[in-house]
Formats: sequence, structure tokens, C-alpha cells
Amino acid sequence: KTTLVWLQRELRLSHFPALEKAIAHSERVALVYFHDPKHSIGDANSIWLAQALQSLKNQMRSKKADLLIFSGDFATCFADALQQVQAQQVFYSFQVGEPFASLQNQALNICQAQKIALQPFFSEFWFDPGVVLNQQKNPYVVFTPFYKAALSKLALLEPFNETVTHQPDDWQKLAWPQLRAQGLDKIPEDLLQLQAQSWAQKILKYWTVSEQGAWEKLDFFIRHNLQDYTEDRDFPAIEATSVLSPYLHFGQISSRAIYFELLARSESEPALNYQPWVRQLLWREFARLLMWFFPYTEKTPFQEKFNAMPWQSDAEFIRAWQQGQTGIPIIDAGMRQLWETGYMHNRVRMVVASLLTKDLNQSWLHGLQWFADTLVDADPANNTMGWQWVAGCGVDAAPYYRLFNPLRQSERFDAEGDYIRQWVPEIKALSKKAIHAPWLHQAECRMKGIELGRDYPLPVVDLSESRSQHLQRVEHLKQV
Ligand code: FAD
Repeated sequence: KTTLVWLQRELRLSHFPALEKAIAHSERVALVYFHDPKHSIGDANSIWLAQALQSLKNQMRSKKADLLIFSGDFATCFADALQQVQAQQVFYSFQVGEPFASLQNQALNICQAQKIALQPFFSEFWFDPGVVLNQQKNPYVVFTPFYKAALSKLALLEPFNETVTHQPDDWQKLAWPQLRAQGLDKIPEDLLQLQAQSWAQKILKYWTVSEQGAWEKLDFFIRHNLQDYTEDRDFPAIEATSVLSPYLHFGQISSRAIYFELLARSESEPALNYQPWVRQLLWREFARLLMWFFPYTEKTPFQEKFNAMPWQSDAEFIRAWQQGQTGIPIIDAGMRQLWETGYMHNRVRMVVASLLTKDLNQSWLHGLQWFADTLVDADPANNTMGWQWVAGCGVDAAPYYRLFNPLRQSERFDAEGDYIRQWVPEIKALSKKAIHAPWLHQAECRMKGIELGRDYPLPVVDLSESRSQHLQRVEHLKQV
């Protein structure tokens, strides 16, 4: 029997049940990635993808096995691959959000028409959808009860087998020399072109994009930062979080395998305080389950009345926000960190999202789209939940009248101004008092040779005015 294992964003070899089972029960296994430029993901995501595919391909080649890559219209390539490898069945890990949901539907239609078994695995979830439900057997839409229910079910979680390399012979099942000779192992040209651009090279120098790189990052985080995670995680100038999000997004490390790694480590180190971090991993799980139950939220707000929100669409505001030129230093620092590295600290993501949707009154969809294009960890489920949470239109959202005050956030979480100084160097000479709101300290700016409006922008909005306008808008919404 030949099994085609279809990779979507599980770009790893370990802790991978679909591959594990295929190898155990088949004579031949084709590990295949399909790249359809029509269903493209964001640009920053794409450059990570190109690198991750290259890394996985190298891992396979070192075992004399092949990663097959078909590039072009998905349906045509999928049917072609089934035929080329003479597959009798297809295994894949179920993914939520677009473009994955559409591709999974197309695969289902093709397999049904050809009478080929298509088996999904729910290995990218901790719990199969439907396992963690409330008393009415409905999905949770508030995080804390979900979290408690999930914790009570952790004992049911099964660890995955660690690795697919049971026997050296196993790898021979994955060797496809004839297809390699036809070039079916090449990284798609459009991805390579994107990756060669200077902005992409600049981002990639911050990352080691491989399965091994993910495990090394996890190990570093557990040894150095896990213990103080709760105290430090909100301070963007400190490297206190794992920064594993892009690896998790691309499945270079399995979230469930991380949980079992934490359990194993805590056996030898009983004081290891891993629970607060597990809580964050369960936010991820929550987002995935929400996307499973409410897929429409990728495009429309979970809370319908938000369709009546009178969003403005102001190209100048959006441009200033995207380019980190709003004149509000904590916002500009975050947006420039994003542009430079493809990543932004979680606290700052919340603050920039609040400014865009509340002070600047631009739809959360503008922000979601920009993040989808520029984050290396851009993830349909997490991104949607994050934006709707801040905008106040999602599940378990912050009350929609509440907005983050960027100045208070800046003073509280970047008290010394170190994060701002790193990303907004033109004002780095300012004192820790002035750096959060230079326009309120014009004398100091002048003294330090910084002219606002020339060297650094004046703020694009008056924050107290924008706050009261936001409150008026939500008053209107309350009547809807
Ligand atoms: P850690 O603090 O080390 O947490 C570990 C992992 O838990 C993360 O890698 C992530 O997978 C998960 N996690 C942590 N916080 C959250 C959260 N609030 N929601 C869901 N999962 C979480 N995260 C993405 O992975 N992709 C996105 O596209 C994304 N967009 C966001 C948009 C907005 C507006 C906001 C407010 C948040 C968004 N997040 C997104 C969530 C969060 O900001 C990142 O997951 C986190 O900053 C990643 O850093 P880390 O890996 O160091 O996290």
C-alpha cells in the first residue's frame, strides 16, 4: 500500500502521527507539500515557509528520503500527485482557517471522486473538537471556563511517539528518486524570489528556521525564562517569552509535544513553574477551536452588532500606523519591530491594535490584514482572535468601551524607555520621562536637538479627543 502524507503546515518529522502511522502501515510513503500561488499566505509567512521547506528537505535528504513539492493549481497538482505515487490513501493533519479549509474541501472532493480514503488527524490540536464543551454541549466562548475545563482533561492527553525513525529501512519507503529526477523536490520559484528580496533577508537573519531550531529555542526558554514568565512576560524590552509562535504556526514543533516535554522536565525539576505558560498554549488551543466552530469569524465579527460600527477608512492613518510614523513612540516601536523582524511583542500587539481600531477608528480587518502579511507567525486563528478581542467584537472580548491608553501602557511596561530607544532611535536621547510622549516635552526635545514634525512626527491624533469620540461611537452601538 502507498500512503500520501499531505503536509500543510506541520513541517516537522517528529511527533507527527499522520507520518508515523503511514510509515508503520504502508510499503511506500510520499510526503508531499502542495504550493498553489493562488491560495497564497502573507509575505512574511511565505518567506518562513520557503526556509522551513528547505530545512525539512535537507533533513529528509540526509536520510536519503524525499520531500516532494508540487507547485501550481492545487486541485490539478493533488490529482497528479495521487497518480504519480499511485496512492491508495491520504493522511493529513486537520488545519483551521484559510487557505487550509478551502484546500481541505478540494482534497475531499477529489478523493471522494477517485474513491481514495482521506484520513484527517487532529494532532495539531490538544483536544479533538467536541471534547472540551460546556454543560450545554456547546463550545466555550469565554476563555477562563474553557481553560479550567481543558485543565481537567489534561490527564486524557496522549503523548505522540517521538520520532518516525524506528528502523533505518523506514526512510527507504520515503525515497522517490524518479520524482526527484523530474524536479519534484524543488522549492517553488515564487517563494525563492520572495525570499531573495532584501526585506526578507533582513527578517530571516533574526531566525533559525528549522525543527531543531524550534527545540533549541524551547530548551533555552525553559532553562532561562520559564520560571519568571509571569513577572516578565509583559515587558517588551525583556526577552522573557518563548518567541516560538512562528515555529508553532508552521508546526515545526508540536504544541502537544511541548506539554509533554514540560511534564518530563518538571519530573527532574519539581519547582519548575510551567503552568502560566501552559495557559498561553491553551489560548492558542482556544483560538483553534473557535476557528473550527465559528469559521466565519475570519471575515466578520463574532458579535454581529459590530457590523454597525461606523468605521472610517483613512489611508493616511493606516499608512502612518503601518510605517511606525504615528508620533506615539510605543506604537511606532512595535510597528517597526514588526517590519524589521516579522514579530511583535504580545503586549505591544494589543496596544497597537487598540490604537488602530479605537483611537483611529479603522476596522480591525485593516489591522488583521497587515499582520497577516507582515508577521512570520501570522496565524488565521490567533490573529483573528487577537484582533477581535482588542476591537471588542470577538468572544470573551475586552469590553468595547475600554481602550488601552498607549501612554500609560508605555510608562508601565517600558518604564525606562528601552524598547522605544531600540526601535525609534531618532528620539533615543530623550529622558525616560519624555520618551513616552515627546510632544508633551517639547522643551526637552529642542534642548536635545529633536524637532518634532521634522525628526519625529507629531502625534496623528489627540489621544483624549480620540478617546471621547470612541466612547460616543460605542454609545451609538449600544443602542443597536
Ligand atoms: P509566549 O508568551 O511564549 O506563548 C507561547 C505560545 O502560546 C505562543 O507562541 C502562541 O502560540 C501561544 N499564545 C500566546 N499568547 C497567545 C494569545 N494571546 N493568543 C493565542 N495564542 C497565544 N499569535 C500568533 O501566533 N499569530 C498571530 O497571527 C497573532 N496575532 C495576534 C494579533 C493581535 C492583535 C494580538 C493581540 C495577539 C496576536 N497573537 C498572535 C498572540 C500573541 O501575541 C503571540 O502568540 C505571542 O506574542 C507570540 O510570542 P511568544 O511565542 O513569545 O509567546
